[in-house]
Amino acid sequence: MRKFEDTYQHKGMRNQLVKLLRTKGITDENVLTAINNIPRHFFLDSAFDKIAYEDRAFPIGEDQTISQPYTVAYQSQLLQVKRNEKILEIGTGSVYQASVLAEMGARVFTIERQKKLYDRHKDFVFKAKYPNIKFFFGDGFLGLPTYGPFDKIIITAAAPYIPPKLIEQLKAGGFMVIPVDDAEAKSQRMLRLTKNENGSYAEESFDAFSFVPMLTGKNG
Ligand code: SAH
Repeated sequence: MRKFEDTYQHKGMRNQLVKLLRTKGITDENVLTAINNIPRHFFLDSAFDKIAYEDRAFPIGEDQTISQPYTVAYQSQLLQVKRNEKILEIGTGSVYQASVLAEMGARVFTIERQKKLYDRHKDFVFKAKYPNIKFFFGDGFLGLPTYGPFDKIIITAAAPYIPPKLIEQLKAGGFMVIPVDDAEAKSQRMLRLTKNENGSYAEESFDAFSFVPMLTGKNG
């Protein structure tokens, strides 16, 4: 079995990463503290040990990636996470983003459509530390109707459109942070939607990002 060690070198590199995120405009101290507390190298193959704190995405198998730390920080900041909030995440992947939310005290419900990635949660290194993360195998376009409504929803794959079922599962006053395909730019525009009392939503538009695609149906 792999031995997980968080050395002084790792902590030092993590500190540098947090400094870099500050220079890039991340100001939410709760987000920065969570990133500083979580050994990102535990979420990657040991081959990435020395580079795990570079601000870039890395492969995690099944053609998927762990998001870039800046992207994780950016989406987490837009969510304005508060303790005990119920947050639905689409795209579990490496569980890193879910761990950042859990470290901030949220109750996280995360869905993954790739069976092989979903199955890894059984050996998740922080299973005992984050009992506030619940794992689901399914299609994120459908959400989790029996567990909703949610205070916040975060989509960590490139959405072709805003999934109506996810809007339904959002509480009034709640946020959805979602990267939506921008056909002309071949990238995604980060949007924050705020649900109104009447079920409609207001839209704020932020920077452009590049995610792996959000796909329909389950795989495996
Ligand atoms: N949040 C992840 C990022 C993973 S990349 C992390 O921190 O590592 C995006 C993930 O979304 C992939 O694992 C992909 O399989 C998953 N995904 C894509 N479409 C999906 C869908 N419709 N429902 C659930 N997961 C989906």
